[in-house]
Amino acid sequence: MIIVLMGAPGAGKGTQADLLSERAGYRKISTGDALRKHVKLGTKVGKLAGEIMARGELVPDNVLLDVLKEEIGPKSNDVIILDGYPRNLAQAETLMKVVEADHPVRGCVHLDVSRSNLIARLSGRRVCSGCGSSFHVSGNPPKKDGLCDKCGGSLYQRPDDDAKSISVRLDVYDSSTKAVLDYYQKRGNYCKVNGEGVTDEIFKELTDAISTCLN
Ligand code: AMP
Repeated sequence: MIIVLMGAPGAGKGTQADLLSERAGYRKISTGDALRKHVKLGTKVGKLAGEIMARGELVPDNVLLDVLKEEIGPKSNDVIILDGYPRNLAQAETLMKVVEADHPVRGCVHLDVSRSNLIARLSGRRVCSGCGSSFHVSGNPPKKDGLCDKCGGSLYQRPDDDAKSISVRLDVYDSSTKAVLDYYQKRGNYCKVNGEGVTDEIFKELTDAISTCLN
């Protein structure tokens, strides 16, 4: 079963998906993380995707489908939190036609955050090169400057978290990804959660919404 976790870049999907995986045992799949793994390993997919990602644009749909299939694997009873896919209507339809026979989409939960807040979150974000944990220069700084609290790895700024790419990514979200919200709204399994405020409170609202979708 799939829960599609929607929200603009910087809405906190990654943080909440990690919590859902740690605390509720759900399986998290992030297409952005999967692509970054390909880039790091220098695979064919990584070579094709790296520059597109750095500009903040979308990687072609056919590439994403291969990446998604590889991550999702065979039919199972897992509850999968899908972060970063679908990002346009064509991908939502592909998910329905190609994946849903084995992994039905039980709900789309949308983390809603204002544009000004998204820009502030993305531009101050720092990510651990070791374990992928996220920090923020002012909102959630690491205890030791430049080092991850969890694994001691060095922190870096994602190449697509610079001002120009942030603006492209938010525009791409507005122009392509919002159609996905309408799509799930029409299907009747859509729920909006306020993504601003305290992480644990957002988590509580999110788990309630997901439980409703699964029951
Ligand atoms: P994210 O970590 O979800 O912000 O994704 C980082 C980047 O990976 C995006 O800006 C896109 O370039 C690429 N990406 C991730 N998921 C998708 C997708 N479903 N379709 C196209 N590109 C994607």
